[in-house]
Amino acid sequence: MAHADKRPVFRFAPSPNGRLHLGHAYSALFTQAAARHAGGEMLLRIEDIDTVRSREELVDGILEDLDWLGLRYDGEVRRQSEHFDDYRAAAERLNALGVLYPCPATRAEIRNAIDEENHPRDPDGSPIYPGLYRGKETSGDNTDHAMRLNHVLAIQFAMHKYGRIATFTESLAGPQGETGLVQVRPELWGDVVIVRKDTPTSYNLSVVVDDALQGVTHVTRGQDLFYATHVHRVLQVLLELPEPVYCHHKLINDDTGRKLSKSAGDRSLKSLREAGISAEQVREELGFS
Ligand code: GLU
Repeated sequence: MAHADKRPVFRFAPSPNGRLHLGHAYSALFTQAAARHAGGEMLLRIEDIDTVRSREELVDGILEDLDWLGLRYDGEVRRQSEHFDDYRAAAERLNALGVLYPCPATRAEIRNAIDEENHPRDPDGSPIYPGLYRGKETSGDNTDHAMRLNHVLAIQFAMHKYGRIATFTESLAGPQGETGLVQVRPELWGDVVIVRKDTPTSYNLSVVVDDALQGVTHVTRGQDLFYATHVHRVLQVLLELPEPVYCHHKLINDDTGRKLSKSAGDRSLKSLREAGISAEQVREELGFS
């Protein structure tokens, strides 16, 4: 159920594993414009569950870049690394429903279990987890395992609850023009990792827990995360969390049409600033002047 009776709440939720680039600037400005248009709030959340890749100076960099861009957000900044207990509690709830299972499989073990050439792939292009260890007890108190979602049980749970699989509302469009009421398809991702081996949560779990805890009513983000929404809705159904409206915006590509990425070392806002480009020019270039 969307929060129809309260002020809309939007959020921008970057991960501090590189400097922000034009794609992030677009997402932040898009979210700010949408929040203003709706007379709502805009929150900032730092998604730093990856305590190895997230670096403190990159968090400072995000705040500096957003400030330079002229972005104003409401309330306290939420840092995910300060809320692992919330994610643990949610994982325990899922576990109590019987929809998670421990999976000690290594990448090599998974690779060996499949015919990589012909194996079905998830929307990010990775082979779908072949279900090793699903329905099996793992030995003793081995803590070196991830917890995966048994997506078949999750579908059954949703069917039982609603008599149908859940849907989500896309108010803009997915990569293939998906819009309006979208049928949730957990099988696109298979048995996703909900609790990683190296950290007591995952992107998918913490994002839904936080969106609910922060009262987020509108999720605005890039189209690259459109298909992740299928997993997010399943988790919301299982955890009985409210359903936000989704709005996946276009991605900003480089001159060759390739999606911008931190790992490819694409030009950061910092480097644009140092090259003498003004925030106004960036906003104008992105269509938010
Ligand atoms: N932290 C994610 C990213 O930087 C975005 C999460 C979201 O908007 O749901 O790609």
